[in-house]
Amino acid sequence: MSKTVLVTGGAGFIGSHTVVELLERNYKVIIVDNFSNSKESVIDRIKQITYKDFLLYKLNMLDKVAFSKVFIENKIDSVIHFAGLKAVGESVEKPLLYYRNNIDMTLNLIELMEEFEINNLVFSSSATVYGVDNKPPFREDMSLSATSPYGATKLMIERMLNDIQNAYPEFNIALLRYFNPVGAHKSGIIGEDPEGIPNNLMPYIAQVGSGVRQRLSVFGGDYETDDGTGVRDYIHVMDLAIGHILALEKLQNEKIGCRAYNLGAGKGFSVLEVIKSYEKALGKEISYEIVERRSGDIAKMFADVSKAKEELGFETKKTLDNMCQDVVKWQNFTKR
Ligand code: UDP
Repeated sequence: MSKTVLVTGGAGFIGSHTVVELLERNYKVIIVDNFSNSKESVIDRIKQITYKDFLLYKLNMLDKVAFSKVFIENKIDSVIHFAGLKAVGESVEKPLLYYRNNIDMTLNLIELMEEFEINNLVFSSSATVYGVDNKPPFREDMSLSATSPYGATKLMIERMLNDIQNAYPEFNIALLRYFNPVGAHKSGIIGEDPEGIPNNLMPYIAQVGSGVRQRLSVFGGDYETDDGTGVRDYIHVMDLAIGHILALEKLQNEKIGCRAYNLGAGKGFSVLEVIKSYEKALGKEISYEIVERRSGDIAKMFADVSKAKEELGFETKKTLDNMCQDVVKWQNFTKR
C-alpha cells in the first residue's frame, strides 16, 4: 500500500518540486497551504506534470481547529514541513510576525502529530543556522547561531524538535539544512516565483534576463574569494527534492531520533560564475554592476555533504549549467 505524506507548504518553491517527486514515486500526497507566498495555479501544473491527483487543504496552520480536520479526515504516515515565512529582510522588520507564524504553526503541527500518533517528520531547515562565525565547509556538528529573526525561527524549531524527540522518543525527525536551492522542474512549468523584487540572486538574474529588471547589483566585489564576489553552494531544486525522499525513506526504515543533514552540492560558485552560466543558458548578456556589500552577508558558504551521502545516499546530479538552463525554461514559460 502506498504511504500518505502530508506536505505543509506544498505549493511553494521547494514544496511543489518535492510533491512532484513524491507523486512520481507513487506516494499519496496531501498538501496544506494558505497560498500566502505561492499561486494556486501551481496545483494544476503539478497534476499536469505527473498525471496524478492529490488532496489540497487551503488553510492557515495557525488555525488549529481547521488544521486538525486534515488529521481527522486522513490516515497520515509522515509529514514534510516546508510551510513558513522565509524572507530574511522582512523578518528583521516584522519579527513578531515571523516568530508567531513560524513557531506557532510548527507547535500546532507537532501537537497534532502527537495526538494522531504520527512519528516521522522531515523539517525544512536552512544553512543560515551556521551563523557568521563558522568557516566553510559547514558540518552538522558545528555550533549554531542566528543572524536574523528568520534564522532564529529555524534554529528555535530545530531545538524544539530535539527537545520534543528527547521527551517523546517515538518521534523520528530529519532536519534538512538547505544551502542555496535554485533551478526549476525540467518541464519548465513550475519554478521559483517570488512576489515583488527578488531578494535572492538567481530569481533576480532571471528577471534581468527576461527584461523585467534592468540591471543586477552584485553585492560586494572585495570579498576574500577568487574573483572578489560572494561564494554560495547552489543546489538544483530537483536534487533537493530527492534529498527529501531519501530522508523520508530513512525515517520509514530506521529510528534515527532527531538528526540534521546538510543538503547542498558541497562546492561553491561565485556571483560572477553564476552570471556567466546564466548568460550561456540564455544566449544573452546579463547587465550588472558591483555595488556595496549587503549587510549580514559572509564571503563563502558551502556544505560538507558527507553525512547526507553516507547516511542517506544523497548526491547531487545537476550542474550549475543545468540549474540555469532550467530557470531559463521556466522564465520562457512564465513570459508566454
Ligand atoms: N547577491 C547579489 N545580488 C543580489 C542578490 C544576491 O550579488 O541581488 C549575492 C549575495 O551577496 C550572495 C549571493 O548572491 O553572495 C547569494 O545570495 P542569496 O540572497 O541568493 O542567498 P544567501 O545570501 O541567502 O546565501
